[in-house]
Amino acid sequence: MTTNGKIPFLDLIAPHAELKEELCEIFAAALKTGGFVGGPMVEGFERDFAQFCGAQHCVGVSSGTDALRFALMAAGLKQGSVAVTVPNTFIATAEAITQAGGIPDFVDIDERTYNMDVTKLQEYLESQCSVSEEGKLISKRSNRPVTAIVPVHLYGQMADMDAILELAEQYRLIVVEDACQAHGAEYFSRKQNRWLQAGSMGRAGAFSFYPGKNLGACGEGGAITTNDSKLADTCKMIRDHGQAKKYYHDIEGYNGRLDAIQTGILSVKLKHLPRWNAQRRERAAEYNRLFAASEAGVQPPYEPSWSRAVYHLYVVRTGDREGMMAHLGKAGIGTGIHYPIPLHRQRAYESLGYKVGDFPVTEKIASQIVSLPMFPQLTAEQQERVAAEISRFEQERVIQAARV
Ligand SMILES: *Cc1c(COP(=O)(O)O)cnc(C)c1O
Repeated sequence: MTTNGKIPFLDLIAPHAELKEELCEIFAAALKTGGFVGGPMVEGFERDFAQFCGAQHCVGVSSGTDALRFALMAAGLKQGSVAVTVPNTFIATAEAITQAGGIPDFVDIDERTYNMDVTKLQEYLESQCSVSEEGKLISKRSNRPVTAIVPVHLYGQMADMDAILELAEQYRLIVVEDACQAHGAEYFSRKQNRWLQAGSMGRAGAFSFYPGKNLGACGEGGAITTNDSKLADTCKMIRDHGQAKKYYHDIEGYNGRLDAIQTGILSVKLKHLPRWNAQRRERAAEYNRLFAASEAGVQPPYEPSWSRAVYHLYVVRTGDREGMMAHLGKAGIGTGIHYPIPLHRQRAYESLGYKVGDFPVTEKIASQIVSLPMFPQLTAEQQERVAAEISRFEQERVIQAARV
């Protein structure tokens, strides 16, 4: 969709215009039955989404943050124990850990994939932890037991799950995948010699259906995927005030359900997700081609051979990020930064005691990354304009530099 030659960062109008009638029918059906919470639409979507993810169970919840939090609680994250994650992610990853009663410890990211660096994870486990007399793995920085790893499949790119799962097994740690940006992303497991879907590899996976995600609700939503039926049942209880039977509360839970109208909408959109993801991959390949041809001075994303990314975001690195964003903004092209401030530098996490320089790769890229327009309906012509404006900006920068 182009309005006055503007190219939005994200288009939430076009995909819904395409499906307007079908989506409105969902609302009409809900009005007719009065089934707004729970019921067959919710169960139908949970079945379909589990199948899409190659997982046995899916539990719909009210957001991706709840999905992460409930999955960690149900997987048995011990109160006051450490869950290891990355500082280059959305704050919800860490919020879910602390709100489930844990403490986040960070490890740095890989400079090419921008996801968890598995050698840093290994280093952390080997040299920043000790083993207690009872055989518990203890984090030296917090003096707390380490019980979980939360890898994030950021930007729709896969974290290196074989290595992460192997370390988790060795150290007997729970793995909950943050797949909130990775609906349909695939990972080639060299160990199993086959492609596996995001959300099907850890003890559980967490997805968000925030409108801008690859599969988005017309409102808030999220889901947990797992092959563990007990974990799925526990998540169902946690999302519904800790009850398996109405008004019989075995534990204290939350109001964290996914409502029926949203699941109906998600079922309609799920049918289109494989095509939308394929279109995102095509758009990413087109950007890669344009940037390789124009020598535009931006570094395109890197996709390892074992990853089939779904490009929730198309993130490049550049020398003068603020200048480039301002130039593109003036040209009517929307951009974003995911994320400008690493979690260990956020005021909310001052109490964790990290300092500048603790995660040099994350800190470096945080000042260089920019997310370009990316959505399934983006056209090749629009991408040409984005690339042309970036080239023009880089040329002007060279000329300015020569003048000085
Ligand atoms: C969106 C997102 C979340 C949280 O999902 P919500 O539905 O907004 O709660 C968590 N982690 C990552 C990486 C995300 O992008």
